[in-house]
Amino acid sequence: MSETFDAVVIGSGLGAATAGALYAKAGHSVLMLERMESFGGAASRFIREGQVFETALHETTAPRDGDVKEEVFRALDLFDRVTFVPVPELHEVRATALGAPFTLPHGYDAIAAAVADRFPQHAGAVRAFLDDLEHIRHLLSLTAHRGGLGWWVRHGPEILSDLRHAGRDFGRSLSEMLDRHFGADETVKAALVPNLAYYHDDPDRLWWTFFAVAQGEYYRHGGYFIRGGSTVLVKALLDVIRAAGGQTRAGRTVHEILLDAEGRAAGVVYRDSHGGLQTARAPIVFAGCAPEQLADMLPADRRAAFLAPYDGKTRSLTLMQASLALTRPAADLGLTAYSTVLVPDWMTGLRDLKDAAALIGDDPRPDRLPPLTVVDYGRIDAGLPGPGPAPVAVAALDRLDNWEGLSDAAYVARKTAWLDALIGRLDREWPGFAQAVRLSDLATARTMAHWMGTPGGAVYGFAPDAPAGMPKPPTKVDTTIPGLFLASAWAGTGGFTGVMVGGKAAADAAL
Ligand SMILES: Cc1cc2nc3c(=O)[nH]c(=O)nc-3n(C[C@H](O)[C@H](O)[C@H](O)COP(=O)(O)OP(=O)(O)OC[C@H]3O[C@@H](n4cnc5c(N)ncnc54)[C@H](O)[C@@H]3O)c2cc1C
Repeated sequence: MSETFDAVVIGSGLGAATAGALYAKAGHSVLMLERMESFGGAASRFIREGQVFETALHETTAPRDGDVKEEVFRALDLFDRVTFVPVPELHEVRATALGAPFTLPHGYDAIAAAVADRFPQHAGAVRAFLDDLEHIRHLLSLTAHRGGLGWWVRHGPEILSDLRHAGRDFGRSLSEMLDRHFGADETVKAALVPNLAYYHDDPDRLWWTFFAVAQGEYYRHGGYFIRGGSTVLVKALLDVIRAAGGQTRAGRTVHEILLDAEGRAAGVVYRDSHGGLQTARAPIVFAGCAPEQLADMLPADRRAAFLAPYDGKTRSLTLMQASLALTRPAADLGLTAYSTVLVPDWMTGLRDLKDAAALIGDDPRPDRLPPLTVVDYGRIDAGLPGPGPAPVAVAALDRLDNWEGLSDAAYVARKTAWLDALIGRLDREWPGFAQAVRLSDLATARTMAHWMGTPGGAVYGFAPDAPAGMPKPPTKVDTTIPGLFLASAWAGTGGFTGVMVGGKAAADAAL
């Protein structure tokens, strides 16, 4: 069977859903094909014994005040459909070296005051660090909304001032910037960047410019959760496609990208839920999967040229995440923040984070646990209903090869051991925690690879590495195949904001 559309969308991750919704809203017929039985990729949820668990979202930024998601929300009229619930503080950090837990608030002034209070010797340095970061964030946010000549004249002085900072530090790594401002004091760095694992596992490789833009939004306005979970946002995007007459089909795996005689995208071949092959013809294909997966869907003689632009890029990190339902609110057990980062004693600095993921490849040892991010959805009006208090998520860095080559029984045994170890660690921090756990589930890197379908289980597309040598242009949405656009974390950067920006760029390019 063959059908014809204006565009086919491969996958229903947030990037693909954004591209599909914008293209449908512009008046085009769209067919979305999702390999799994439910939509959203990472941005999803699952339900156990009546309890709704969020699968990915801990924090994102709100689509306002220059946040780059704002334009997508405006174009698709999503403001009334998706509610962003503010998170009370960015993170609480717990580390032996810190002494009492440190609360990282949001707002540049509040952050500077909190750091100056705990680390008076760095009062000036933290201001200078935030100033460097804000110049880059401001420059990129401003130029993303650039206008005509009058706009350039009006904003010229600001841009020149920002450029002095951005130009000087453009290609640096996060480590270089932290070392410049705070020297060898690793404790203040852990307090200021407790969420490093949201971006990279190695601060020597994490690109400062990318970090400044992403973290700048969190520092300025704080983090937000989407009431009802990330699935609410995905549903709103899919509803735009459906309202415009488009179709969204789950349980359909795309196998082949069709090309016309000129080598342009001409549609896809996919397998339906009964195993039958179907053809959907379209001059535009938005791809919500990785370039290396797309290469396999192309004719063999097109693959090498297709992959060449991604040469030398490495995959981003992956995670494991425990989802826990409790008999008592986590706050009653002593958790005092929405997001708490537990830094293990073996970590003497941020650079040690690169050793964390490999720990999961062995049986857990209490003295060699990875740093953990503990998210208590009960601190906010999260809208994750269930018979008991809102759930808690515990995330750690992981690697797919930690779980490869294991028999089914060995995989289950290692998973169980790690789930017990994570709960045990929380029980040491907050006595009584283990006894209050009534339901638990662990998603490993292997789960991520299966469920998102990404190579290596990568959750953020390519790693945001600082450019080596001369900076190269960032990954683009267009590919060597005219009409085939990347629309996912692999199109630029990952995370909820990054992929929606990528999806919008893909729709703009196609339009
Ligand atoms: C545990 C966890 C916590 C996270 N926390 C945060 C957070 O707090 N804040 C934040 O901003 N980000 C967070 N992220 C990252 C964020 O969720 C992802 O970067 C983002 O959702 C990826 O979107 P994507 O568009 O790349 O699509 P993906 O989520 O990768 O989805 C791709 C989809 O395409 C489908 N697909 C692939 N191949 C095919 C094919 N051949 N045919 C049909 N369908 C196909 C897949 O089945 C999948 O549904 C987290 C991720 C995880 C896993």
